Amino acid sequence: MKKVVKFGGSSLANAEQFQKVGDIIRSEESRRYVVPSAPGKRFDGDTKVTDLLYGCYAAAENGEDFDEKLDAIKERYYEIIRGLSLNLSLEEEFQKIREDFKAQAGKEYAASRGEFLNGKVMAAYLGYEFVDAAEVIRFDKNGNLEREKTNKLLYKRLSKCERAVIPGFYGATEDGKVRTFSRGGSDVTGSLVAKAIEADMYENWTDVSGMLVTDPRIVDNPAVIETVTYRELRELSYMGATVLHEEAIFPVRKEGIPINIRNTNRPEDKGTLIVESTCKKPKYTITGIAGKKGFCSINIEKSMMNSEIGFGRKVLQVFEDQGISFEHIPSGIDTLTVYVHQDEFEEKEQEVIAGIHRAVQPDFVEMESDLALIAVVGRGMKSTRGTAGRIFSALAHANVNVKMIDQGSSELNIIIGVENRDFEAAVKAIYDIFVMTQI
Ligand code: ASP
Repeated sequence: MKKVVKFGGSSLANAEQFQKVGDIIRSEESRRYVVPSAPGKRFDGDTKVTDLLYGCYAAAENGEDFDEKLDAIKERYYEIIRGLSLNLSLEEEFQKIREDFKAQAGKEYAASRGEFLNGKVMAAYLGYEFVDAAEVIRFDKNGNLEREKTNKLLYKRLSKCERAVIPGFYGATEDGKVRTFSRGGSDVTGSLVAKAIEADMYENWTDVSGMLVTDPRIVDNPAVIETVTYRELRELSYMGATVLHEEAIFPVRKEGIPINIRNTNRPEDKGTLIVESTCKKPKYTITGIAGKKGFCSINIEKSMMNSEIGFGRKVLQVFEDQGISFEHIPSGIDTLTVYVHQDEFEEKEQEVIAGIHRAVQPDFVEMESDLALIAVVGRGMKSTRGTAGRIFSALAHANVNVKMIDQGSSELNIIIGVENRDFEAAVKAIYDIFVMTQI
């Protein structure tokens, strides 16, 4: 059994957190490949090492004296090293970083040092081999990941190590220029390593006990999702739920490797398991509720629209020409409504309306702004009758006016449009009816 374990910044913010991580790794023989982030925030209001590095490099780029800033970063690592009683010096590494900053080695190189140094500390602490991500994660000249090449390099290098630490977030081009993923990218590194070594499981350790059924800013202490499929996850993340870097799904999904989201501060919790498919029934009919505010609807009405072939295409062409993507297009016999992101639409509003008039000569066009969309997602809905009925009666009881309903034929989700101001009440009402009543 082989597991890849990735630890986020808050799991590695100080020596105490490192010790928890060490205990977790040592408690299971199979936790052989470790991907660390850079040290994160130790307390509210603290600054992540990655952000300190960006700041320090900005000073170097402006030709300012950056020694003090670099020393503060060094102290973050030495605080950990001392706390773990390690006999490790990072003097050479910091000397090199200082020179490279002076020589303007690039913003991405600067940011990557957070993971690089933390990888060194982690390898020394665990007694694992250190594998520099610059040697095994390959980017092309435009900064895009080279998947095939990376997989080969990782496989070749790691098949020779029984246990290794591979720092997250960065890699390098063929000629050695360091590049990074976007923020939170250590998740992607973990996923690439899991694929390359054909891991049985990719454990992603963070500071929450898994993915929550809904946003804790709306519902107090929401339940944790035990198992979620990749498709459900995609629907929920698209609507704003965040657990993992979006690009972390693809490599493991294709290999059928499950991801387990775990809590470093509560290792006894099982967390959330993300799988390709499962016959496990979800605990509740729904798996999750997510949503976003800030949509706008454009309602186009024309009598006899239903018999006008090509009407929809012509309308959508207008949006395409203005570079606006649409979210939903519910339609009636003589109406067609297009839902779009308000901020994308607002600037081009008049061009779109003129375009629609020219393209389809509607009877009238009406717009409504400040709308929210809520996705109620669940593989369990397909086999349960009355789900939609329960949602709408819950919303009626909460006095929420439903503006739009869209259920895809996959029966994996129901999208509901409400006014922005009803958003929180609507999410709460749906959560209560499915989770609090436990059906
Ligand atoms: N340290 C990087 C960041 O703060 C990458 C990561 O933690 O995954 O975004």
